[in-house]
Amino acid sequence: MTARIRTRSQALQQRAERFFPGGVNSPVRAFRAVGGAPPFLESAQGAWLTDADGNRYIDYFGSWGPMILGHAFPPVVEAIERAARSSASFGASTAAEADLAERVISCFPAIEKMRFVSSGTEATMSAIRLARAATGRKIVVKFEGCYHGHADGLLVKAGSGVATFGIPGSAGVPEETAHLTLALPYNDLAAVEAAFAAHPGEIAAIILEPVVGNAGCIPPAPGFLAGLRSLTTREGALLIADEVMTGFRVALGGACQLYSLDPDLITLGKIVGGGLPVGVFGGKRVFMDLLAPLGPVYQAGTLSGNPLAMAAGIATLSYLQEHADHVYPQLETTAKAVTEGVAAEAAKAGIPLTLNRVGAMWTWFFTPGPVTDYTQAAMSDTAAFGRFHNAMLNQGVWLPPSQFEAAFISTAHGKEETAATIAAAREAFKAVLVS
Ligand SMILES: *Cc1c(COP(=O)(O)O)cnc(C)c1O
Repeated sequence: MTARIRTRSQALQQRAERFFPGGVNSPVRAFRAVGGAPPFLESAQGAWLTDADGNRYIDYFGSWGPMILGHAFPPVVEAIERAARSSASFGASTAAEADLAERVISCFPAIEKMRFVSSGTEATMSAIRLARAATGRKIVVKFEGCYHGHADGLLVKAGSGVATFGIPGSAGVPEETAHLTLALPYNDLAAVEAAFAAHPGEIAAIILEPVVGNAGCIPPAPGFLAGLRSLTTREGALLIADEVMTGFRVALGGACQLYSLDPDLITLGKIVGGGLPVGVFGGKRVFMDLLAPLGPVYQAGTLSGNPLAMAAGIATLSYLQEHADHVYPQLETTAKAVTEGVAAEAAKAGIPLTLNRVGAMWTWFFTPGPVTDYTQAAMSDTAAFGRFHNAMLNQGVWLPPSQFEAAFISTAHGKEETAATIAAAREAFKAVLVS
């Protein structure tokens, strides 16, 4: 196996480092968790990425989640082009916003009203503000390893990006803010009971990834989500399902559909924008109507509901809705074949690997497992993962560049990509063994 030539990418990275800290506009893109220089991308079609040196890769990170229909999917491209011809932005209401909202609600019936924002970070930040206003309480419970964007109060024990850099949270977050966030172990209802007992009448909300993606993929244990629902109801706290990653991914109606969860508020992002910047927070009308101009909670956005982003979202959701009976079973079949094929190669090579997967979202943890929370995920051999990642990249397979990120496929991935990926893994595990 020979390393691919990436001289143009290397030159572009050096140039980028003059302008951006670490050469990037979002830290995990710098590949620090796996070593090596990150390829610069020039174009992509379906399941395949092409870098600045002309190397091609099978894409298993899908822009971190949004690209469920593959890259440059024609209906999405056409919708964006059409919208752009009528102006990229008005800053006034358009019918497209309600068109997308109707589709979101038909997938997520727990959402009665919503607001569009421009990122997942904005969505979770606004949902927390709303929960505090609705309850008159300050404390927010989150779970270790869950990432909810980079707002101050949510950067406590926040999974991949932060975990990768080996820091417990972020510098620049005041202690006073961090103290209002309680981080508990995932899948541990007793810890949640204890937190309510220790802070009676003080917890405004529990926010969680109903399937964790940002510590690597960790599914909820049976009864965990239902337990959180009944505890929050009993204690008068809101339950916020952060489905920025899982929404439209693990099922059309996200984890809420898959696990019959009825939260008070839901946050969405990634897929809902079809590759353009969109976030959503929404839920029960009684809470959403607390927002300005109806109520006292302020929240706003110059580019919220942007027409290009709405068009890309509508094109994506309408395809998913019309083809759901076909799309989700196909994603399941392909994801199962790829993940189990690679896991079988690891077993043959004698490498302990734990595969966690929910539909088209998964992680191969380099640990005997099981992995049911962040502590167990953190026991993974990240150096071995780094060697695996590098070896896969050299054979044209682009995995998410951290042990603590979920991998994804799109509807454009098929048998050819599956076979090539398993063959690449067979070689890559040899590189893992020669440490
Ligand atoms: C990606 C992600 C976010 C943050 O979304 P951005 O658009 O990157 O701000 C929040 N929550 C979860 C679960 C995510 O996966």
